[in-house]
Amino acid sequence: MRKITKQAAEAFSNHRNFSKDNTKVTTDGGYVRLFLFGNNIARLNTRTGQREITTCGWNTITTKQRLNGLPGVSIHSEDGSVILNNRKWDGDWIVVNHWEETYAAMYTPTCDVCGHCDNGWFYILNGRHDYGTKCPACHRKDVSP
Ligand SMILES: [Zn+2]
Repeated sequence: MRKITKQAAEAFSNHRNFSKDNTKVTTDGGYVRLFLFGNNIARLNTRTGQREITTCGWNTITTKQRLNGLPGVSIHSEDGSVILNNRKWDGDWIVVNHWEETYAAMYTPTCDVCGHCDNGWFYILNGRHDYGTKCPACHRKDVSP
């Protein structure tokens, strides 16, 4: 991953301002926004933790690079179409929430869905406990077809 992509992704996830060459991260009005050439290609709601992305109509290598730097985002092109997380994508705003498996050693998390508390492995939304937690059983129910 290119350094600027990594730096922008870190600033975005950590709610920090960043600016370098064609890439910018701003924090304002409850949102963190990622810009490429002045186009807002990703936004994060700092209250709920919801993350959304768009290509802004620019299916370019650089757009895909910057978006691919974000956790839970995997984009490539196939026969002229944009594929996001194995599905065809028109490039319009789309939610890309990502549940990350983590281990509770220092405290006992409570599942937001069933209220069950336990130590051990559980899931957090978009990298932060305050955005949401799920126990493995509820996570399996959500992701199963
Ligand atoms: Zn649960």
